[in-house]
Amino acid sequence: MDQRKLERDFWAEQIRLALSVVAAAIAVAMSVTWFTTMDLDAHARNHAMALSFCLPIAIVPISQAMAIRLRLRLLRLHLKFRKLANSDDLTGLANRRSFTQQGAARLAASGRDDTQCGLIAVDIDWFKRINDRHGHEAGDEVLCHIAQTLIHAAPHDAFVARIGGEEFTIMHDVASELDLSRIAEALRKATESTRYSYRGEQIHVTISLGLTLARPTDTLSSLLSRADRALYDAKNHGRNQVARAA
Ligand code: GH3
Ligand code: MG
Ligand code: MG
Repeated sequence: MDQRKLERDFWAEQIRLALSVVAAAIAVAMSVTWFTTMDLDAHARNHAMALSFCLPIAIVPISQAMAIRLRLRLLRLHLKFRKLANSDDLTGLANRRSFTQQGAARLAASGRDDTQCGLIAVDIDWFKRINDRHGHEAGDEVLCHIAQTLIHAAPHDAFVARIGGEEFTIMHDVASELDLSRIAEALRKATESTRYSYRGEQIHVTISLGLTLARPTDTLSSLLSRADRALYDAKNHGRNQVARAA
């Protein structure tokens, strides 16, 4: 569930709960007052009843506000841990766990209109060389730069994840394989044309990409395997290129 909906539901529930508690407190206070003031004259009884109505309205919201503050803190903690569990430490992208969950949900929800779920598997070319030549820290920085390049070059509602060391995936609903190819080519070009530098040294980075469209019998795993096979074709044909699944 997305964070905004979770927060909206939380506030709706808290308001409902607070109103019910106030109503229950008024009902209890007025009932008790009714039965315990039978001996008093009408004037004093009316006063007591008015007081039993007003006091819960004044006091209960204070205790409810304190309870809501505590529950809000718990909700924020929950959201923070959920974000940590689902995002990659280094790049901030969705991690493999999130890809598995959200990817499966996206796949299940796709195909209801004129679009199909598309998956692009991305792997950085010769990444080991970058580590060897410039150091592991430089490699880490390149991973972060590539993550940003993919995020910016992909359609805004695409789901971009880092599923392994220097492997990424992009999921997006598209009308045709041609549309998916255009997205993949845009990612490739954006990476190729971006100048990465580490401590003043220029690092030239390219990526290889394999793409495929979901078929009715696909699971996330079969979809990814097909995109991966296409990616290996791209590697075998010289890297820095896009290949489509057979
Ligand atoms: P290819 O073009 O065939 O993909 O070659 P490659 O060198 O990119 O692939 P290979 O699988 O040989 O090497 C991947 C390297 O990625 C090896 C590993 O040390 C490095 N790597 C994996 N995760 C990280 C990471 O988080 N940070 C850094 N700096 N390097 C990483
Ligand atoms: Mg790899
Ligand atoms: Mg690689």
